[in-house]
Amino acid sequence: MECIFCRIVEREIPAAMLYEDEQAIAFADIAPAAPTHFLVVPRQHLASLSETGRGDAFLLGHLLAVAAELAAQRGLAQGFRIVINTGADGGQTVGHLHVHVLGGRPMHWPPG
Ligand code: 5GP
Ligand code: ZN
Repeated sequence: MECIFCRIVEREIPAAMLYEDEQAIAFADIAPAAPTHFLVVPRQHLASLSETGRGDAFLLGHLLAVAAELAAQRGLAQGFRIVINTGADGGQTVGHLHVHVLGGRPMHWPPG
């Protein structure tokens, strides 16, 4: 299996796991861009948000709901930033859909 996030889902490589259920897992980003930075990842391999459609609406909603729940649990009451980098111009570097959750500092707009 070549996909690094599939390998984390399968526990073939380690990650600082924060959450898991039947559809999703969450783990700390290996190169945090904020004091709190974790990723919410579907167990199912979907290459990017562009690969999803209406049939994935429940899963996509679930990823966001888990992201918000974990943000609350992890003390991000002051706010947080959700990012889904998509495709080359979107800055996506790992080809398995993932939701970034960043917090613990003020965010800037527009992003880089
Ligand atoms: P992207 O650039 O695709 O939106 O985000 C990929 C994210 O995955 C980056 O923030 C990067 O630091 C993180 N990442 C890449 N490889 C690994 C890994 O092996 N383990 C963990 N925990 N995070 C990773
Ligand atoms: Zn994958």
